[in-house]
Amino acid sequence: MRFIISPFLLFFIFSLHGQSLSESEYYRRMDYGHQLMIAGDYQAAQTEFMFVLENMAVIPTNLAYLFGRNSFHLALYKQSVNWLNKYLQLKGTKGQYYKEAIQYLQFSEDRYMELQRSLKQDQSNALISSKYDCGGLSKMICPVCKGSGVIFKQGIFDIHYQTCPYSSGEGYLSCKDYNLFMMGVLSPQDSLSR
Ligand SMILES: [Zn+2]
Repeated sequence: MRFIISPFLLFFIFSLHGQSLSESEYYRRMDYGHQLMIAGDYQAAQTEFMFVLENMAVIPTNLAYLFGRNSFHLALYKQSVNWLNKYLQLKGTKGQYYKEAIQYLQFSEDRYMELQRSLKQDQSNALISSKYDCGGLSKMICPVCKGSGVIFKQGIFDIHYQTCPYSSGEGYLSCKDYNLFMMGVLSPQDSLSR
């Protein structure tokens, strides 16, 4: 029975993957990730947030807060600081999560400083550079333009296309840049929605 089912199942997975999900589906997964984070299942929350981060055309600003806070819980303090700062830059004091973002930014900065003090520079560099192994690949599909090399933005009258500022139109990121993107430090131009 298994031999009959699995090819169909595979086909189903691939055909699902080929379709772009609706925006509401991404927001649903973001909310689900939020619930998981509140419940203390940070690893599962990370899976949801990364799915949205890697697949959604324009990354919602609130995701910068959620991903940043969850990174604190996962002890990825530098990543946490970067994303929370990004959230605060974009939303200022008016953000829905302003107070929490300030609080967790403080937590992460404190812990990061502690870590910096206790680690030698080369050790901390090794920690930073190997968070995402890119599955052994040297190049990763750019999470911003999804490999197309262009991004589009909805203007008042029409859709504007522009060269992806992260992958410079190539559609791919080196594994190193992919790590920097995930840490929130690869930002030639900000692609987050306001
Ligand atoms: Zn790109």
